[in-house]
Amino acid sequence: MKLLYPDLYLESIYNLDFDKLANKGIQGIITDLDNTLIAWKDEELTDYLNNWFQEAKSKKLEMCIVSNNQNSRVHKFAEKVGLPAIPNANKPRKKAFKKALQELELPPEKVAVVGDQVFTDVLGGNRMGMFTILVVPIDEKEFIGTKFLRLLERFILRKVSKQS
Ligand SMILES: [Mg+2]
Repeated sequence: MKLLYPDLYLESIYNLDFDKLANKGIQGIITDLDNTLIAWKDEELTDYLNNWFQEAKSKKLEMCIVSNNQNSRVHKFAEKVGLPAIPNANKPRKKAFKKALQELELPPEKVAVVGDQVFTDVLGGNRMGMFTILVVPIDEKEFIGTKFLRLLERFILRKVSKQS
């Protein structure tokens, strides 16, 4: 059961404190792609996300993308950000994580895994003895965002109709 608990649970990758990670001795990050960095159907690299990568780089954190998604999508994104990537990863299986560690040239205890899924990212990372960080899936946040906007819309419409 303990293997399913992340060491850290955050709303988004943007809440990740790189300095705190560094203080724990973390020197590398293995990150999931879909719903962690970008939405499922998205491909765009926003300035916001690009800045996040740049900040990690400036803090000397090595990164590698490990995704269960297929080659073309993963490599296309990885090329945009200039990072190594391992697609078709079959997380939570260890093979791709081991490959990523080789890519990063770091031992597991110096690497954090970031992802939105307990049974792939967290379980896989914990099995490897890495620091695990779970984030809320981007799609879910967008869904909540949409719901909130709808509520706000209705609220405003009601106010407007009362006035008229
Ligand atoms: Mg994911």
